[in-house]
Amino acid sequence: MTGNLTFTMIKPTAVKNNHIGDILKMINEAGFKIVAMKYTRLSPERAAAFYAVHKGKPFYENLVSFMCSGPIVAAILEKENAVEDYRSFIGATNPEKAEEGTVRKRYATSMTENAVHGSDSDENAAIEANFFFSKLERY
Ligand code: UDP
Repeated sequence: MTGNLTFTMIKPTAVKNNHIGDILKMINEAGFKIVAMKYTRLSPERAAAFYAVHKGKPFYENLVSFMCSGPIVAAILEKENAVEDYRSFIGATNPEKAEEGTVRKRYATSMTENAVHGSDSDENAAIEANFFFSKLERY
């Protein structure tokens, strides 16, 4: 069974380049409803914890320092089949491989600075949503 929630972040470069509005518009137009959202910033410790699954990989240190280099937007999104549909909607991790019309194709500037995060499973969507939002911050 697939769930109806996923978690996303608009990453620091996309925020710095003023793409928040365009990306949120794309998200809404693709049928995702925003059920929680915040403009915030990760400390080095929290960025390291969020990406702990990648610890030891060659890109990890760079990813962590990038993710705490500036503000981000974190959001919980609702849609049928949310996790899978959102992954298709944002496109491949490597923007050179992302399909036309995807968020990463439009707004990523590199493999690391690839505009947005999207959860890769229902289980991780729940963990990641809880990482950023209390129960009171969702409706
Ligand atoms: N990443 C990177 N270099 C790589 C692979 C990943 O900088 O070779 C970064 C990129 O920002 C990516 C994040 O690490 O979004 C998490 O990697 P993952 O493989 O989980 O990709 P995603 O699920 O975000 O597409």
